[in-house]
Amino acid sequence: MSASPMVLIFLGPPGAGKGTQAVRLAADLGLVKISTGDILRDHVARDTELGRKAGPIMERGELVPDDLILAIIREELAAMPEVRAIFDGFPRTSGQAEALDALLAELGAPVNAALLLEVPEDELVRRMLKRAELEGRADDNETTIRRRLEVYHQQTRPLVDYYDARGVLKRIDGLGDPGQIYCRIRGAL
Ligand code: AMP
Repeated sequence: MSASPMVLIFLGPPGAGKGTQAVRLAADLGLVKISTGDILRDHVARDTELGRKAGPIMERGELVPDDLILAIIREELAAMPEVRAIFDGFPRTSGQAEALDALLAELGAPVNAALLLEVPEDELVRRMLKRAELEGRADDNETTIRRRLEVYHQQTRPLVDYYDARGVLKRIDGLGDPGQIYCRIRGAL
């Protein structure tokens, strides 16, 4: 089995299915899934110092400051003998994307692909409200969902151009059942 460095990034708005697809892709390609949202929720649940800082920001649907996020990412990457990772929900700002590039350059790892899951906004809201019933996430309520979508358009959407300019952007139709979407992703890679 090849174990050369590999980095995939899931871009796309909240509710697009990044987490679900990242789990399967990580298992099939032998990559570690790094989800900053999951890591932050774990800190909130354990009531750590980071959790106490991040929790109220997450509840408002705003972004946690770059320096806190980058500390998480440095720690995750340092724990890997070789960088083989899928990022889910990171980077979310140009500052994070530039810092990631610098970190990966130090480690000799490329960004192999940035996968953009494209889903219309009404479907995103429907999926997040459904997830609220199933998982009870504090930020899956209608007001916070609207704010998270705005924040995505303002701060994260510009990364589509950033990765497109590097020639690594793959646009994936994110409508349909998870199995179908997974096939599209594998086809694009
Ligand atoms: P997610 O599970 O990816 O939707 O993230 C849930 C929340 O965690 C977001 O709404 C942000 O408040 C915070 N968060 C997760 N990842 C990041 C990130 N890369 N940068 C800033 N905030 C983040």
